[in-house]
Amino acid sequence: MSIVINADPDCLFCNIIEGKIPSTKVYEDDHCYAFRDIAPQAPTHILVIPKEHIPSADVLDEGNSAAAAHCLEAIPKIARAEGLENGYRIISNVGPDAGQTVKHLHFHILGGRRLPDQMA
Ligand code: 5GP
Ligand code: ZN
Repeated sequence: MSIVINADPDCLFCNIIEGKIPSTKVYEDDHCYAFRDIAPQAPTHILVIPKEHIPSADVLDEGNSAAAAHCLEAIPKIARAEGLENGYRIISNVGPDAGQTVKHLHFHILGGRRLPDQMA
């Protein structure tokens, strides 16, 4: 059971961090949590989220960007542990045009196969 800074009781990912909704954990430290996406779009599909409720990358500023940076620092450790030595893609969807469905900042790690060259 982890504490989430500025937790939103209605936020799916806050509830996952707090252990109220089950998830398949792949990594956790004091500042971030990583788990397998429920609908994987690649052989490896992991979500990395800060233990702070930040709605998206669009509201990052000097007051909360350290939480995002910490997620980015965790990603190479997770990728190595997952055996993604051939590469992977990091995606963070922001808002409706990008198809963001969960309004808690998250970084997708996608890998395990050759990914499409087209990004959009
Ligand atoms: P977005 O579309 O906001 O960038 O990404 C949200 C991701 O969360 C999607 O890839 C979706 O499959 C995943 N997701 C949604 N609900 C759950 C859930 O309850 N558990 C897990 N592990 N992933 C979820
Ligand atoms: Zn949240």
